[in-house]
Amino acid sequence: MSRAFNFSAGPAVMPEEVLQQAAAEMLDWHDAQGRSSGMSVMEMSHRGKEFISICEQAEADLRELLAVPANFKILFMQGGGLAENAIVPMNLSQGGAMDFVLTGSWSQKSLKEAGKYGTARVAASAQADGFTSLPSPASWHIGADSRYVHICGNETIHGVEFHELPDLKALGCDAPLVVDFSSHVASRPVDWSRVGLAFGGAQKNLGPAGLTLVIVREDLIGHALPHCPSAFDYKLVADNQSMYNTPPTYSIYIAGLVFQWLKKHGGIAAMEQRNIAKAQLLYDCLDNSALYVNKVDKACRSRMNVPFFLRDESRNDAFLAGAKARGLLQLKGHKSVGGMRASIYNAMPLEGVQALVSYLREFEKTQA
Ligand SMILES: *Cc1c(COP(=O)(O)O)cnc(C)c1O
Repeated sequence: MSRAFNFSAGPAVMPEEVLQQAAAEMLDWHDAQGRSSGMSVMEMSHRGKEFISICEQAEADLRELLAVPANFKILFMQGGGLAENAIVPMNLSQGGAMDFVLTGSWSQKSLKEAGKYGTARVAASAQADGFTSLPSPASWHIGADSRYVHICGNETIHGVEFHELPDLKALGCDAPLVVDFSSHVASRPVDWSRVGLAFGGAQKNLGPAGLTLVIVREDLIGHALPHCPSAFDYKLVADNQSMYNTPPTYSIYIAGLVFQWLKKHGGIAAMEQRNIAKAQLLYDCLDNSALYVNKVDKACRSRMNVPFFLRDESRNDAFLAGAKARGLLQLKGHKSVGGMRASIYNAMPLEGVQALVSYLREFEKTQA
């Protein structure tokens, strides 16, 4: 068996230790005391004590890892980030106005979807410069009647990341901040004092597709629009410990193993240091080359998703073929941006980035 370095934007690389543990437990899950359940986690009732213990442990580990305050609920939902683009306004807008900061494809999608449930306004946009920078919070236009302000913490396609969450209160705004953190959750700490709600699909940095994480301040729960589907009403989901309907049990179990892996390897602070080192290595290589270019403002370059271009685009196919031959997979950029993209989530080891950097240098030499 040989495992490649997978630079996919999502579903994405998983920690190998987690996959091994899941494989070992596939046919017969054992509890912490070593007692056999006689079945796979995917065969368990979500109402049984075994699965409930798995789910409660996952939630407790995540709360500890991300230092989620007690007045926030952790919800395990379904539908992905895109469904939350509708579920958030259905729960928070009360049919009123919402303000969106446009920093790339994902925040654009959020704006468009929210318009079905209320008045969705653009507070600021970086579209004019091709989404390569972040509009400074002082320049945002937030209405006094705003129900919430939405940002995408890390734009997975454009490779732009907020390295500091905006302090809305300091801007004179009392509306809660909603953060789509799908593609950088658990890669860095979160300043919850600045956040009302954060959501993310699991398949970038937490586990398999199918699970959607929502972390929401309690006072924002209980205001859903009358036509909000019951399974998407945060109050019903919270009151039923994420078991109002059958949750994505196997995805929750795997995400729980990822949380244990994160704890074992030093938690979020250690992960952030590793992520800074990996990103630095890759950006330095790109910046010091005559062949490759990353166009994003250095102040907001993503640590997770690194888009780059070959100055000679006629070499793209040769670049990708050479990468594949070395076991460096999924480097083709998103079709809306073109070029290349390397996603280097928590589970991408430093060795993977080192192998990519060696290849980048080697390929550049052959082009000279
Ligand atoms: C991938 C992604 C989404 C969409 O997630 P789905 O699970 O496909 O709905 C939304 N926002 C961001 C930032 C993403 O990276």
